[in-house]
Amino acid sequence: MTAEAMPTIEDVRAKLIAELEQVDAPDQILKHPQLRQLYGQISSLPAEQRAEYGQAVNKLKSELEQLVAKRQADEKTASKPVIDVTAPMDVNAEQSLPSPSSQGSLHPVTTELRKVTDIFLRMGFDVVDSRLLDDDYHVFASLNFPDDHPARDDYDTFMTTDGLIAPPHTSTMQNRVLKQYKSRLDDGEPISVVVPGRVFRNEDLDARHEHTFTQVEGVYVGRSVTVGNLIATLTTLLEEYYGQQLQTRITPFYFPFTEPSFEFSLSCPFCDGGCSVCSHEGWIELLGCGMIHPNVLREAGIDSNEFTGFAWGFGVERLVMMKHNIEDIRHFHSGKLNFLEQFS
Ligand SMILES: [Zn+2]
Repeated sequence: MTAEAMPTIEDVRAKLIAELEQVDAPDQILKHPQLRQLYGQISSLPAEQRAEYGQAVNKLKSELEQLVAKRQADEKTASKPVIDVTAPMDVNAEQSLPSPSSQGSLHPVTTELRKVTDIFLRMGFDVVDSRLLDDDYHVFASLNFPDDHPARDDYDTFMTTDGLIAPPHTSTMQNRVLKQYKSRLDDGEPISVVVPGRVFRNEDLDARHEHTFTQVEGVYVGRSVTVGNLIATLTTLLEEYYGQQLQTRITPFYFPFTEPSFEFSLSCPFCDGGCSVCSHEGWIELLGCGMIHPNVLREAGIDSNEFTGFAWGFGVERLVMMKHNIEDIRHFHSGKLNFLEQFS
């Protein structure tokens, strides 16, 4: 091989860089015969030229290595799907997604709660939402629960580390509602408000007890309000909701925030004398209610000698269970599709 026939480093560089663009396996360029040939020529050079020539070949090899590494990195990136978040929505892709309306529906408690609040709105009640955390004053103290009173044990619930309480009843809004609407009494109008909301209890769970459920509180205050008004209001609600005439009954009970207090039962809508839903008694205990305790009215700045009122709280789940003959309250929060789809 003559000196003239030997490819120069610059010739090999141009050739290999051009080939690098074409080959499928870029690292093969680093083993190219012409690159090996350049190294092979070192020994044939005069001794004084070898170091400089060797450095130049090494420099070319190092340049090729960097180009190979870059090409390999580019190929790796290109193989991943690249999502351009700034790109306009692909309309066709969107149309292929299932629409929410064909796949889901409102939760049965939401649907039924809307029916209940709608009945109360037609009866002239205002609707005020409850809250998910509250303080001791509104949950207990303002409702005539003295500190350390054993009645608090019936409302065992959850507390945050800084002392806030997950309300065990929507009555936690009663003091606020009474204060907010009491100017109506001066105008000769009654206070009539319902308060739907989630409530929480530290319960042993079973078919009838859940740690989280939905309550609807009712508050009505005016002049000459009696137990008769209470019974008539609740009976109207239930007959509207169940779409049939019902017999109702009240039995004495105890709540700190009402006096007298009652349990309110209705004749079983499923039978005429006894069935499994009503434990063959013909009556179903549905809710707690009573005449608002004078201490509760006074705490809200209402003259209990001039005005009287009633309040109640019922669980929406129990209402819905009776309407649809649902045997276990835990179905509502189970997320089971075969349960939920019956209501869609
Ligand atoms: Zn029955």
